[in-house]
Amino acid sequence: MNNHCGWIAQAGELPARAQLVGTQRADWLIIGGGITGLSAAHTLARRFPQQRIVLLERQRIAQGASARNSGFVVAHELPSPAERLGQPGHGAYQVASRIGVSAAQEVRQRIAELGIDCELNDDGYHFAAHRPEHLEDIDNILASLASVGATARYFEGAALEQRLGSAFYARAIHCTGGNALLQPARYVRGLAEGLPASVDVYEQSAVTDLSRSGQGWTARTAQGEVHAPQVLVCLGAFIARAGVRNSGAFPLELSASITRPLDEPRWQSLFGERQWGVLAPLPGGGTVRLLPGRRLLIRNTVEYRHRDLGAGALAERQRRHLAGLQKRFPGIVADDIAYTWTGHLSGTRSGEPYFARVDRGLHAVAGCNGSGVARGTLWGRLLVEMAAGDSSPVLADVLAQASPGYLPPSPFFDIGASLRMAWEVRRARAEA
Ligand SMILES: Cc1cc2nc3c(=O)[nH]c(=O)nc-3n(C[C@H](O)[C@H](O)[C@H](O)COP(=O)(O)OP(=O)(O)OC[C@H]3O[C@@H](n4cnc5c(N)ncnc54)[C@H](O)[C@@H]3O)c2cc1C
Repeated sequence: MNNHCGWIAQAGELPARAQLVGTQRADWLIIGGGITGLSAAHTLARRFPQQRIVLLERQRIAQGASARNSGFVVAHELPSPAERLGQPGHGAYQVASRIGVSAAQEVRQRIAELGIDCELNDDGYHFAAHRPEHLEDIDNILASLASVGATARYFEGAALEQRLGSAFYARAIHCTGGNALLQPARYVRGLAEGLPASVDVYEQSAVTDLSRSGQGWTARTAQGEVHAPQVLVCLGAFIARAGVRNSGAFPLELSASITRPLDEPRWQSLFGERQWGVLAPLPGGGTVRLLPGRRLLIRNTVEYRHRDLGAGALAERQRRHLAGLQKRFPGIVADDIAYTWTGHLSGTRSGEPYFARVDRGLHAVAGCNGSGVARGTLWGRLLVEMAAGDSSPVLADVLAQASPGYLPPSPFFDIGASLRMAWEVRRARAEA
């Protein structure tokens, strides 16, 4: 089975960029060509128009997790019981929401500035549960969301079934006020296409070593090296590959499928021309979207893994996607699934990112915990701000929250993480 991302297939491929061969000198080196690295590149090019910026990418830019995600632009997360109004965690939730709103705003600004056509839908999305006990204390959730500037509405019963075309969900909160949906491969492709000439991008150029040399840093690839006084590591789940080993971030592998356009009259009458998105109330639950063109997307697996899923394992994940779609939309069959793929994101124990000056001239970020479309866009800018010695209220908020949590050494962490993820998945089985 192909690991073929439906978003990339629909967005189309960008022309390939050269591989790094030989020695280059730059003022800034960015490692990683996803949303974070590309956003950093735009910020740098504007802030230092006379300086030379090099970006190194292991595969193709704009084709990693940044193109393979579910396209939720997360301004407001569902507040956990400990984060709701009147609870001790509400202060931290307010800070996280301020960051989220800024991050979602940053996405809109990039889209507007670069004229990116990425099917941005500003109508928010739903937090929805199959089991009522997974979404309880509705009044307090609505009040907590309102207290951070979100607009939230509760749905259940026939109104919810009519809204989503599915009787699967018992209750849902629809939340706007910054939350949005987009086509991720088009978004990150737009960031890549809009890069100015002062940014030199090299593809198929994995950094295999990053070490100090003189006043700066040298990054080595299979056939070349880049010397730069300032390096920004934007590798997400792969941050350890640049030698940043104490970030507290670890890789999670997720898988998703998109159907063909569901054009038959029964689907047309069920869905019309609507679009919507649903996030589960538990981390191990499923994400579902009704996309423009009446395709369905589902993402309902997440696992802690060191090796990529092979073809057989991906086929098994596709069966889980199919089962997830069938329990929501009886009548979906295996042949309706057009694309199935995987991607890696970076998680942390605390749910907060690693965002740090690692050493003189070396700054790094990781730990999007599933909301890197918006946060990665913001972090790219803020990493530049930090490296340039600037300050801003949102940078202060991000630094205040950047405590990813301690990771025990291997194999203790590997065993613990595998068990924890398996538990999260079991706990959320009804929502997958
Ligand atoms: C299936 C799935 C669904 C998701 N859904 C959502 C969602 O709905 N909303 C949301 O906000 N987030 C979501 N996420 C998370 C989101 O995709 C990430 O947070 C985001 O893409 C992080 O961007 P990034 O630029 O930091 O990292 P990446 O996109 O991972 O970019 C890092 C880049 O570094 C490159 N690289 C790796 N090693 C090297 C090396 N040695 N040298 C040079 N380059 C290297 C990689 O090839 C990659 O292109 C999802 C992720 C997945 C996988």
